[in-house]
Amino acid sequence: RGKKAFVAGVADDKGFGWAISKALAEAGCEIILGTWVPALKIFETSYRRGKFDESATLSDGTKMTFKHVYPMDAVFDTLADVPEEIRTNKRYEAADGDFSVAGVAKRVKEDYGNVDIIVHSLANGPEVQKPLLETSRHGYLSAVSASSYSFVSMVQHFGPLMNKGGAAISLTYLASERVIPGYGGGMSSAKAALESDTQVLAFEAGRKYGMRVNTISAGPLGSRAARAIGFIDDMINYSVANAPMEKELGANEVANVAAFLCSPLASAITGSCIYVDNGLNTMGLAM
Ligand code: NAD
Repeated sequence: RGKKAFVAGVADDKGFGWAISKALAEAGCEIILGTWVPALKIFETSYRRGKFDESATLSDGTKMTFKHVYPMDAVFDTLADVPEEIRTNKRYEAADGDFSVAGVAKRVKEDYGNVDIIVHSLANGPEVQKPLLETSRHGYLSAVSASSYSFVSMVQHFGPLMNKGGAAISLTYLASERVIPGYGGGMSSAKAALESDTQVLAFEAGRKYGMRVNTISAGPLGSRAARAIGFIDDMINYSVANAPMEKELGANEVANVAAFLCSPLASAITGSCIYVDNGLNTMGLAM
């Protein structure tokens, strides 16, 4: 039986979510996406027009397909949480069906039954370009809401849908534990929360649903989200110059580890933060 994976946070073919979907598809999984409401239309149009055809090609020559792409906004747990100005935004009004985390989980259950894997590959910090010293309370809490609580909410709502042996994975960044100037707006705080929650959720959801929960601390990748932060090319160059492995990180290298962590090969790994960063995290002094 092919496993079913729900992947949240794919809106183009450049980020980790896309690469993880592809690695899971290569391993025989069926992929269901949850895509951020404001990004959904352009993603679907680009996919339909063949913009992603090359990067969607699997090793057997077939094209990666998605069982369904649900509109999703991971900062809302139920539709009742959606404020008026968002509900009446034209992109949100156009969204077909309940785009809250609970709503999407319910729709996945109704449409496809249980799932085996959930992937959280999303983050958002409206004040990411501001140092923490200049970050507003609103900006900080928004970063934690979109980037950390969104994962707690996903495990809460998808946990009951997980088949035995299920696994959840998220993406984190070294800025949680080491100072990365420029990764501001409370995003460093949000990643620290995400990593701590990985341990607590591994325990609680492990006991409750028999599922595993891990996170990958990834090195720099020139995704859309990373470009929005503003210094990603410097980070990539820094990593190539200073990491033990002197090469640029491929999204597929992170995706392969995600596929491993979600597979039975990793059946005893849970609550872990696995570095997939060419070893950069181990360096104390640049050489
Ligand atoms: P990306 O732009 O491909 O992915 C981020 C996704 O989050 C986008 O598809 C966006 O639409 C979605 N999103 C934002 N707010 C959302 C919301 N409220 N609800 C639902 N979806 C929402 O960029 P990426 O770099 O691949 O990011 C994926 C994950 O990897 C993030 O957690 C990021 O912090 C992490 N990460 C990235 C890097 C890097 O250098 N790119 C390094 C380490 C960790």
